[in-house]
Amino acid sequence: MPGPAAPPGGVVLRVTATGVCRSDWHAWAGHDDDVVFPHVPGHELAGVVAEVGTGVTRWRAGDRVTVPFVCGCGRCAWCLAGEAQVCPDQQQPGFTHWGSFAEHVALHAADANLVRIPDAVDDTAAAALGCRFATAYRALVGRARVRAGEWVTVVGAGGVGLSAVMVARALGARVVAVDRNPGALAVAADLGAEHTVPADGRDVPAAVADLTGGGSAVAVDAVGSEQTCADSILSLRRRGRHVQVGLLPPVDGHPRVPMARAIAWELDLLGSHGMAAADYPEMLALVERGVLQPQRLVERTIGLEEAAALLPVFDRATVAGMIVVDPAR
Ligand SMILES: [Zn+2]
Ligand SMILES: [Zn+2]
Repeated sequence: MPGPAAPPGGVVLRVTATGVCRSDWHAWAGHDDDVVFPHVPGHELAGVVAEVGTGVTRWRAGDRVTVPFVCGCGRCAWCLAGEAQVCPDQQQPGFTHWGSFAEHVALHAADANLVRIPDAVDDTAAAALGCRFATAYRALVGRARVRAGEWVTVVGAGGVGLSAVMVARALGARVVAVDRNPGALAVAADLGAEHTVPADGRDVPAAVADLTGGGSAVAVDAVGSEQTCADSILSLRRRGRHVQVGLLPPVDGHPRVPMARAIAWELDLLGSHGMAAADYPEMLALVERGVLQPQRLVERTIGLEEAAALLPVFDRATVAGMIVVDPAR
């Protein structure tokens, strides 16, 4: 593929690390109308600024940066309020344009979206922040407003779920992790999940109710399926808060959601969509202090060739943690 050019107001990065995420698989599987072939996926990245477009004032070649997977336009009311994760004119590398499974990637509205990586955070950990870790952080801190001592059920112990376990523990919450993969549950326990529940066909909400004395205060669907969404909602105690993080594209029709329970028990059903660059400093400060350790979530680093083989089967892959791609490998 030809290398990208820096758009006006944007930059080109030399990619040093990029994560493999279930959202990349959704795009590959055709669940995203924005994606047309030929296409380069990849949206969780760290890199070094290689080329600066016209009008960029905050960045220069050589700066080591990461970026939220949702890049705001930097001009609309949402962006100006620090809410670029819902910008109506957003760009997403790997979805709205070619992404970071490549040596170089172009990024738009650099002054609004780029985030400097602190020296104490390596490229691999920084790539892990861009989508799943930041998404988990915002889901629990910004959306569910988790408080110390609350029970949090995390359905799905993949990259975003394990991130949610780590963030919930850092907030002083007690965690139940649910997954079909025993290896992933072992990692969740290692990260501080007090209980793990195998999703092996058992009644997950009943198991959570037993373990938590009536259900959790907060539940996160970190997978995105009708089953995991329902398990998450039905695992809540009365007045609990559900956060939907896993994507639920309506490819098989819109998912059925147990709204009767949401009404009768006054549950809050919250959506969460990445995290704006404006919210990164608070999270990065916790990473720098070692309170959050995204590098612990990285299972292994692979090259682009292996990534290309992994992507089509990623929805079925047995992964205990995050997989990061180093394009130079
Ligand atoms: Zn992602
Ligand atoms: Zn905007």
